[in-house]
Amino acid sequence: MQWKTICFDLDNTLFSHEEAFEKAICYCFEQLQQKWLEKNVIENQLDLSTWFNSFKRYSDIYWKKFETKKVDAKTYRRLRYHDTMKEFALPYTDEEADAFHAHYYDIVDTFSEPYEGLFELMSVLQQSGIIVGIITNGTADTQYRKVEKIGLASFISNDQIFISEELGVAKPSRKIFDIALQKLGETKEKLFIGDSWEHDICGAIDAGWDAIYLNTRDKPSATNHQPLATCQKLTEVLNVLRDDQSMKG
Ligand SMILES: [Mg+2]
Repeated sequence: MQWKTICFDLDNTLFSHEEAFEKAICYCFEQLQQKWLEKNVIENQLDLSTWFNSFKRYSDIYWKKFETKKVDAKTYRRLRYHDTMKEFALPYTDEEADAFHAHYYDIVDTFSEPYEGLFELMSVLQQSGIIVGIITNGTADTQYRKVEKIGLASFISNDQIFISEELGVAKPSRKIFDIALQKLGETKEKLFIGDSWEHDICGAIDAGWDAIYLNTRDKPSATNHQPLATCQKLTEVLNVLRDDQSMKG
């Protein structure tokens, strides 16, 4: 392989955050329904996937408002909670919405499962003597916990993980890529792999890295940046890395 250093994004690149989100939200709602049944607030359990589809729909609607800073994080969570409960004629208050989300954040990481092919990929990189790292936007304790939960701790130690909260700078800023490279060792042969076009692909390419777009959520590219390759699944990445000479030639 031509690269000396390969770094990865974390969420939706090495594991499915979407899947963990669905499982954890459904688990919290199941517990809530149990409580309501005992208190005779409801008579029957609702179908989980029907309820979740609605919760997901409101999450997507209000996420846009949160992203454009029209509402803050707490309001965003209350709005998606309230509108979902309203739709099913279930009770809701701000306090209940906050408690529901506190529960969710407590447990969501325990639902993270590695993507298929992750360990094979890491083993191959390790055997090839390639330096690996993770560059991720998020809070430190959550991101370290996810790395541990998906079983990456034996491949990537904490000093190879670069988290925006700890560094005070986030992707797509060039700075976080520079810091990672400085810590891992300067090299011209560096590759970044991630699922966010803006944060991972634009960020890495603008910082002078090669990039592979791991488009796990089927999102279109929004700029003219040129990644080395686009993959839909992590299992495809290893093939691209093995073929890199022919690709470049
Ligand atoms: Mg991601």
